[in-house]
Amino acid sequence: MSAGRRIIREKKTIAAMMAIYCRDHHATAGGLCADCAGLLDYAQRRLDTCLFQEEKPACNLCEVHCYAPLQRERVRVIMRDAGPRMPWPHPILSLGHLLDKWRPAPKLKDRKRER
Ligand code: SF4
Ligand SMILES: [Zn+2]
Repeated sequence: MSAGRRIIREKKTIAAMMAIYCRDHHATAGGLCADCAGLLDYAQRRLDTCLFQEEKPACNLCEVHCYAPLQRERVRVIMRDAGPRMPWPHPILSLGHLLDKWRPAPKLKDRKRER
């Protein structure tokens, strides 16, 4: 399945947030430490298989939540930490992320009916 614009943007957003977080907490420059690289790979695979694809809600509003508890908590910490520092280096991604939080989350039952 080739990713649509929404998923591509989400991938860029999570990668940018992880780069900020890893640089500041794991003293990396220009890349990710092995732990963060593994988590980014996990998050991107979640996006590839997200049931909602182009109608995807913000993950924290999703009724499915496909993340395992450990990864979910790690991403939550990273977003809380790096999110407020996104607007300066990544204004467009940051605005998109903000708007996603305001969009009503689709219901899984509606999604199933559409298929
Ligand atoms: S948590 Fe929900 S919105 Fe986020 S990737 Fe998983 S299914 Fe998609
Ligand atoms: Zn790291």
